[in-house]
Formats: sequence, structure tokens, C-alpha cells
Amino acid sequence: PVRTRIAPSPTGFLHLGTARTALFSWAYARHFGGKFVLRIEDTDVARSTQDSVEQILASMNWLGLDYDEGPIYQMQRLERYSAVVEQLINEGKAYRCYCSPAELDEMREAQRARGEKTHYDRRWRPEPGKVLPAAPEGVQPVVRFKNPLEGDVTWVDVVKGSITINNREIDDLIIVRPDGVPTYNFCVVVDDWDMAISHVFRGDEHVNNTPWQINIFNALGAPLPQFGHVPVILGDDGQKLSKRRGAVSVTAYEEAGYLPEAMLNYLSRLGWSHGDEELFSREQLVAWFDGSHLSKSPAQWDPAKLEWVNSQYIKQADDERLAVLVAAQLVKRGLKVDAATLVPMCALFKDRCATTVALTDWLSMYFAPVAASAEDLAAHVTEAVKPALQTLAAKLSEAEWNKVGIAAAIKETITAHGIKMPLLAMPVRALVCGRVQTPSVDAVLALFPKEIVIERLRNT
Ligand code: GLU
Repeated sequence: PVRTRIAPSPTGFLHLGTARTALFSWAYARHFGGKFVLRIEDTDVARSTQDSVEQILASMNWLGLDYDEGPIYQMQRLERYSAVVEQLINEGKAYRCYCSPAELDEMREAQRARGEKTHYDRRWRPEPGKVLPAAPEGVQPVVRFKNPLEGDVTWVDVVKGSITINNREIDDLIIVRPDGVPTYNFCVVVDDWDMAISHVFRGDEHVNNTPWQINIFNALGAPLPQFGHVPVILGDDGQKLSKRRGAVSVTAYEEAGYLPEAMLNYLSRLGWSHGDEELFSREQLVAWFDGSHLSKSPAQWDPAKLEWVNSQYIKQADDERLAVLVAAQLVKRGLKVDAATLVPMCALFKDRCATTVALTDWLSMYFAPVAASAEDLAAHVTEAVKPALQTLAAKLSEAEWNKVGIAAAIKETITAHGIKMPLLAMPVRALVCGRVQTPSVDAVLALFPKEIVIERLRNT
């Protein structure tokens, strides 16, 4: 059976790259009717925080990446790791190494002086007939894995194809640090084995770890999962997407007004494709995602495309749902508005907004004072048009307050003053909305309380 997992380290927000890997793992499991496991890799105690765990869970939840098992915390599995370490030591597959940091430095120094690649010289590795020094007093040993000395490690990567590394290139890996905490490459194997993971998708920064992991799987007599190393996501500077160059957390995009299904859709297209399809639902993704068409080359993060994808989803979104999201954004701006009030406003403005934050920017004019730019005011609210604006204010105060009534008042005003529609509509927009590009004026005004429109028109 297919079992996949995502194994974030809780040292910050859910990174976009991790979210993308989670998405692939999730979609793969769902496609094959398998299980998706969430594991928290918190053995880096100094950098792991509960706050980060909560952020990660919240982002997974927001994206709708539901997991069948977990979260499983590595720090709660220390006994299990110790037992496996003991077993490996007893079977002669791992050993304690008492080299001090100073000794290791010296070793590397000497290797460099000889022009060799630095490596651990296996001085504590037990071999038949080899006499080991006595364990020094007061040194906390590490435990190292006895890597095979010869032969190749080969696997067929789901993404990259066949990969082969010779064991001569690989050191005897530290699997337990001096403080007794086991290391990533070891825990990950015990976990993937215990959790019966069939497919490991992860970022290709881990490709160099995989030969060690495969050797450890083999030493344990554990069946190997399949590995798929997905290429990095590059920012617009051609470098790996990083904090220094803008938002890289899922949370940041949630706050910036992106919809989770748009995010999911966009993320899935980073390093994977289904023909030319750009917009598709979560269900379609699951139906299509079978591990094929994963790209070997790096994916390019494209904020403009993400924005376009989001705008398409906003256009289609239910007005009631958008209203709730906008209401939450307005609260952040100190404006408390009932979501129900916002529903027709969302309907009127959603077509022109790429994010719910942009939609909120628009709709705040209904609840807070506006100020058009000096340029717009100068260009449109001219002395010549002011009398017409006052006529309109007067007519509107008599009008029935709906689109039809407002349209009639505007019509009468332009006829009375012998001016063309735009000459009146532009200053009305500038004064009432604070901007001059809006949907049709009658529709926009109808959603304001009448008094506010009249007050803003008279305020010239
Ligand atoms: N904790 C590792 C990471 O976040 C997991 C790597 C893996 O999936 O094996 O990069």
C-alpha cells in the first residue's frame, strides 16, 4: 500500500518548498488510496519550537492537506532510536567513536596537508584483527554507522532517474551525537521503516543523504521505500527561494490575501505538470497525480502567475465566503463590519481584485473616509463641474436609493448642465470612492448609505 509522509523540522513557518513537497506526498497518497503521515522532526532541540509546530499544522490545515496519521514527534521516539542503535552496535554495524573535536580537526588538517579530501579515518571502527585504543576517560562518544567500504549504492529516483554513488565516497556517518540525541539521517530511516513509508518525496537538497539512508535501511534489514527528490524552487534572482528575497512561508501568502485552493493549484505546478492545464481543482490534481510528469529541472517562483491564478479563483469564489475574509481583514484595520453587509460589495468588486487584501483595499471606502490623490482631484473636480456636483447631491437626496434611482439622478444632472457622463462620473468617483477607476457609478454608489455619498459630494 502507498504510504507517504512529510517531515518538517519545526524551526519556523511552513516554507513554500516544504508545502510543495507535502502537497506532492499528499496528492500521491490520495491518488492511490494510500495514507499520508505527518512527522515532526524536532531533534534539533535548540531550534525547534512549539510555536513553529502550531504554524506548520495551521498552514497544512489551511491548504487542506489532511493527514491520516500524526503529528508524530521524533523527540517522543528517543527510546525506539536508542534500542535500534544498541541493536546495530551489538550486531557490529555501528560503533562508538571517542574522537574529540580537537582530534578531528587535527585529522582533517593532516589530510588537507597531504592534499586529500577530508574524511573520518575510521580510527574507532572495529575490524577483525584490529586493536582499538582503550576508551578515554570523560569523553562522551558519538555513535557512527559502519558504512560499507566497497560497492555502489544505486536507486531509481522517481524524479531524477537512476543515481549511483560509490561507498568509497561516503564516511562513517554519526548517528548519535555526544549529547545522546540521534541524528537526522538515522531517525529518518527508523521512522520511515516503522511507519512503513513506501514513497519518500523530499527536496533535492537531501539527495546526498540518501546513500547513507539506504545503507542504514539495508543494515536493518528494512525494505527500501522509493525516493523522489524534487528540484528546488528558484526565486527571480535565480537563487533558491529564500527569506532574504521576499515571502517564503505559507502564512505570509494567507495574510496577503491568497485563497488556499489557488495556492495549492499554483504550488502543484512547480515541478509538475498535466499537459497545459493551469487551473484545476484539488480533485483533479488528485486524479492526475500519479508520480509521472515530475520535472527534473528547478521550478521558477513566479509571483505574477500566482497572482493571476489567485485572481481567477477570486472571480469564481462565493461572495459570502469572500465577505467573511474581507470582514477579517477589515477588523485588522480597525473596522468592524458585518460580513453580510459585504456580500454585494464583494460581488461588485471581486472581478478586479487579485487578492482578498486588494478587495479589502477597495471595500474600505464604504467604511472609512477616502482621499483621492491631489492629481485626480485637480484633474476631475474642476470649478466648472462643481455646480453639477451640487445638483447631483440635491437630486440624490430626493432619489430612491437604488441603482435605478441613482442612475436617473445622474441622467437628470448631466442633462440639466449639458455635460457628458464622464465629466460628472469622474469627479463623483474621486470624491466618493477616492479613486477614479471603478465599476459603474450607479452600482458603486447604491452600496453606500445615502448620507455618506451626499456628504462626500458636498465636501468640495
Ligand atoms: N526534516 C527534513 C526537512 O525538513 C525532512 C527531510 C525528509 O523528508 O527526509 O528537510
